Amino acid sequence: EDPLQATIEKSKKVLATQRELLQQIAERRKLLSSIQSGGLGDVAGALPKALARRGHRVMDMEVAYFQAYIDGVDFVFIESAVFRHMENNIYTGKREDILKRMVLFCKAAVDVPWLVPCGGACYGDGNLAFIANDWHTALLPVYLKAYYRDNGLMIYTRSILVIHNIAHQGRGPVADFSFVDLPGHYLDLFKLYDPIGGEHFNIFAAGLKTADRVVTVSHGYSRELKTVEGGWGLHGIINENDWKFRGIVNGIDTKEWNPQHDAFLKSDGYTNYSLETLKTGKAQCKAALQKELGLPIREDVPVIGFIGRLDHQKGVDLIAEAIPWMMGQDVQLVMLGSGRPDLEEMLRAFEHQHRDKVRGWVGFSVQTAHRITAGADILLMPSRFEPCGLNQLYAMNYGTVPVVHAVGGLRDTVHPFNPYEESGLGWTFDSAEVGELIHALGNCLYTYREYKQSWEGIQTRGMMQDLSWDHAAQNYEEVLVAAKYQW
Ligand code: ADP
Repeated sequence: EDPLQATIEKSKKVLATQRELLQQIAERRKLLSSIQSGGLGDVAGALPKALARRGHRVMDMEVAYFQAYIDGVDFVFIESAVFRHMENNIYTGKREDILKRMVLFCKAAVDVPWLVPCGGACYGDGNLAFIANDWHTALLPVYLKAYYRDNGLMIYTRSILVIHNIAHQGRGPVADFSFVDLPGHYLDLFKLYDPIGGEHFNIFAAGLKTADRVVTVSHGYSRELKTVEGGWGLHGIINENDWKFRGIVNGIDTKEWNPQHDAFLKSDGYTNYSLETLKTGKAQCKAALQKELGLPIREDVPVIGFIGRLDHQKGVDLIAEAIPWMMGQDVQLVMLGSGRPDLEEMLRAFEHQHRDKVRGWVGFSVQTAHRITAGADILLMPSRFEPCGLNQLYAMNYGTVPVVHAVGGLRDTVHPFNPYEESGLGWTFDSAEVGELIHALGNCLYTYREYKQSWEGIQTRGMMQDLSWDHAAQNYEEVLVAAKYQW
């Protein structure tokens, strides 16, 4: 049983009790306020507001913390009325509701070291660092500064902001500033002018300016963010804060994504395999995949896989354009994805039109993702932009050869095959155009058919890499240390 899931279930039960208690408290409060009269009532309402205007922070929301120690990590869960009624989707509701959720989450998170005794450790603020991810938590570095550092507290505590995807920035009208609960002079940090939004409110902008260090999930992405096309309006701020930046490629969970132990390969004819048993193991997984999907069971036909969100970013439309060419080849194409309804329909149509060659699985299935990764020979990733990308990393760990658009993390991680040196990990193409995709995939198929030894070399090199988080974590440590000795 998944320990995290078990803890979540347990926490839910505790939450139910907690909610009841909160309800009782709320009712008592109501009772109190109904008997309040005269000056005290007014003061209780007005003083907090006046204090807030002077830059003090006044909590007005009930927040509950739950803590669990799993795999050596203290997980702290934050509970509040603001997070209820989300229907398991943090983006439910109006933009304003979403913003309020992120605001409360960041405020509660920045207080965790003061309020949640994790394992009784004595922190000392020089040993504390917050790592915030994307616009959703980009307010955290701002709160750390405004609520604490500006008041002489937690001055040695550091904040690192990680950019996973700059496309979402928490943009809104300047009036959104009223929701973030900060002193007036902080407004300038959020104001941004660009041709798309005009003058607007931008949470990522404030986070980038305030964080002590910024990490991007690959080196390539870090470079691209500094360009007009890659920075999505923030390239100016990114260039100004250039010295804070560091690219660190994500690791993969080598427990979950490991062909030797993969739980989804233990049934239905699939099998676990390692570098030593790659040839027979992969062949068995390929046959099982073909059988499960009702494709002709043939060992010699290259199986090309695609897994990902169906949207413009992932370049699914480029695959669509390449379909007529691909269908002229002796290949099988297996696509798994969900997202834009028109692209989902397109997947179904491909399958319908080419029943002996194509499977278009619409939906989100972790099991199918694992099985395609194991059973396919080639993984196609024609993403228009890709901050890091995980599927190409999983693929290489399973001896599946990636063919990718050389962008962001894909460029960093898939070194192109060089037949003269017998080096490299897959095929890349330089621009997101169908002709280039066909050229790269064509070379890949040619090598698959004609140069078995080169092919096995590519697979082996892919599987021998250390793609684990241990490696990435060392780099994060360096960033934390650099931030600590900044002054
Ligand atoms: P992004 O975060 O942009 O979606 P990544 O490549 O970084 O892209 O991560 C995508 C993750 O989601 C991978 O673990 C991938 O296997 C998984 N995934 C995407 N689509 C599906 C799907 N339809 N079914 C199962 N897993 C999926």
